[in-house]
Amino acid sequence: MLIIGLIGSLASGKHFIADIFRKKHGFIALEYKDFKSQKQDAAKECLEKVKEAWPKNIVVIGIDSLKTLTKMRDNPQFFGIGVEGPVILRFQRRKHAILDSLEKFVQVDDFLQFGVKSHESDFEKLLVRLHLEDEDLSPLNKCMDSCDLRLIINTNDQADLESKIEKLLTVESKAQQLTTTHLLCPNWDVYFSMVAWITASHGNCVRHRVGCIIADTDQRIVAAGYNGTPDNIKKCDQGGCERCWDMSIDSGERLDECICIHGEESALLEAGRRQCCGATLYVTHSPCRQCSKKIAQSGIKRVVYSQEYSSGLERVRKLFKEAGIELVKQELQTVPRLIKLI
Ligand SMILES: [Zn+2]
Ligand SMILES: [Zn+2]
Repeated sequence: MLIIGLIGSLASGKHFIADIFRKKHGFIALEYKDFKSQKQDAAKECLEKVKEAWPKNIVVIGIDSLKTLTKMRDNPQFFGIGVEGPVILRFQRRKHAILDSLEKFVQVDDFLQFGVKSHESDFEKLLVRLHLEDEDLSPLNKCMDSCDLRLIINTNDQADLESKIEKLLTVESKAQQLTTTHLLCPNWDVYFSMVAWITASHGNCVRHRVGCIIADTDQRIVAAGYNGTPDNIKKCDQGGCERCWDMSIDSGERLDECICIHGEESALLEAGRRQCCGATLYVTHSPCRQCSKKIAQSGIKRVVYSQEYSSGLERVRKLFKEAGIELVKQELQTVPRLIKLI
């Protein structure tokens, strides 16, 4: 079961998307405003309805309360999609005849997105006419922050949109249920790549933060590593590595003078050759030449990276090919960030 929440401003295309979920994938579509009109706990009402429909998939359109969103997010089957788009396109497809000028449209849009109210005398009346006077309304930019995915609809082309949604709902095997789509459960490559990014946050090199994970053939993590100066040496970001601090030296240059250990080196040292045999190495940035020869010697059979780093990638590719190591680029839609400003 999948509960998709669609969050978006005026004429952002929420209903358009909900229709695709409903018609092509058999989802039940629910309007969030119907729960609000009952003047009770809208999140509770909404979750009750979801329970009734179990195990059918559900799409809830137009959630505009942070409180509700937080409650809905407690459900592991919930996936929030923020729907956005250029103002002018949204104005062109607006449904409300009341919003007859671009200025009015932008005023209401600013109110919904940022909670900023226009000082014009009849603005309050306008909100009442649009049924937007609700106390439980949160600025959409805050709701969007807690979405799992942000979908930008910059087209009115239905086929294009349908193919985007098709991709989102890709199921790897017929036996899988929707709960195991990439939406709720990333595949191993995405999962370990994200862990590598989280590991990178501990790096202490002033140039880059690189994280690395080694996973064995049973999908178990055998080692993790990040870049920075060796143990008991002053950290790079505290001035420990002279080469890294000299900004006249370009990225990837004079690495022989660098005392920082790369994320891959750190993980390889921790794992040891025996645990590396046949394993996959996940790294945030593509390996440098120095690391690539160590990876080849360690017995690693597969390398997955998500961002290109050194200019020597072609040489690394050649070396890996000769050594029989598969090199894969795993795109990540969002790189995990640990710190969030509230
Ligand atoms: Zn450094
Ligand atoms: Zn390296």
